[in-house]
Amino acid sequence: MDCLFCKIINKQIPAKSVYEDERVFAFNDINPQAPVHILILPKKHISTILDAGQEENELIGHMFQAANKIARDNGVAEKGFRLVMNCNRDAGQTVFHIHLHLLAGRGMHWPPG
Ligand code: AMP
Ligand code: ZN
Repeated sequence: MDCLFCKIINKQIPAKSVYEDERVFAFNDINPQAPVHILILPKKHISTILDAGQEENELIGHMFQAANKIARDNGVAEKGFRLVMNCNRDAGQTVFHIHLHLLAGRGMHWPPG
């Protein structure tokens, strides 16, 4: 499948890995928008969150558990962090393999741009 993030998971394209287990992979964003900007994705290819069915509920929950661990391990849990998942064009989704953005290390604005 011609998916950038599947290629990163399969190590065909390099990335700065920060966490991996049997179901999820996480690495530093190549174009960071905050001092900490980590992408957390399932190893299973799912194009958008709209494509995630009931059978993915446990996997989606696991992505958030991985995000908690990554936030703690990177020392940003207490001060705070933001988790974002973009879906389709208006949200600015550019890679069609679902991923959580974990953003931290600076004060975040609200509402987001
Ligand atoms: P989104 O716009 O929500 O689909 O997010 C895609 C993210 O992937 C962007 O923040 C990009 O900077 C990031 N990205 C694109 N290519 C790479 C890559 N080769 N390695 C790491 N991050 C990437
Ligand atoms: Zn993929």
